Amino acid sequence: MNIVLFGAPGAGKGTQSSLLVEKAGMFQISTGDLFRTAIKNKTALGIEAQKFMDKGALVPDSIVIDMVDEVLSNIGNKNFILDGFPRTVAQAEALGKMLSLRNMEIGKAIFLEVPREELLVRLTGRRVCKSCGAVYHIQSKPTNVDAVCDLCGSEVVQRNDDKKDVIATRLKTYEDNTLPLRSYYKGLGRYVEIDGNQSSESVFDILKSVI
Ligand code: AMP
Repeated sequence: MNIVLFGAPGAGKGTQSSLLVEKAGMFQISTGDLFRTAIKNKTALGIEAQKFMDKGALVPDSIVIDMVDEVLSNIGNKNFILDGFPRTVAQAEALGKMLSLRNMEIGKAIFLEVPREELLVRLTGRRVCKSCGAVYHIQSKPTNVDAVCDLCGSEVVQRNDDKKDVIATRLKTYEDNTLPLRSYYKGLGRYVEIDGNQSSESVFDILKSVI
């Protein structure tokens, strides 16, 4: 089954997607990761996307949709998780069209619900490895050596968009643009809600039973 995983920044989409890749062999399509890779490689796409990401704004729909369209063309018949896409109703509608052209569909659109106070704790404390992208948290998952990745030894930093002033904009952008996806997927009969305010293992157990 193909799924959409959505929720606020910090809700655990990336963590749960990684678990689905590792334990269920699914293919992860993370638009945030694709943009960060493009930024690292200084491609035209990355330079354009960074202007929006640094402010906590959404990258324009047309850019994101074209990027996902290309990934879908190369995915073969693996089951996939969309992590961070769609983030607007226009993206969700475009996704529906892109999939039906390929005789594919979304089985479930799973919303991870996490209260705002918890999101703030998660986002302000999040740190990521500059090189391999491993994710840490200053309180709940610190690195063994300060600011050094346990996995690859590279520097561990705070994402630009996890800085406090940008987080407020990201949460507002999410409320205005992404929350309406709940009604959209309810209307399609594909909507499932999971309480994301528990350990990642517990969330994953529920997620597995839903899929
Ligand atoms: P994420 O890693 O999913 O939190 O995404 C980081 C940033 O990438 C977001 O704050 C947006 O600026 C941009 N981004 C990722 N996915 C999308 C999307 N589907 N639509 C628009 N912008 C996106």
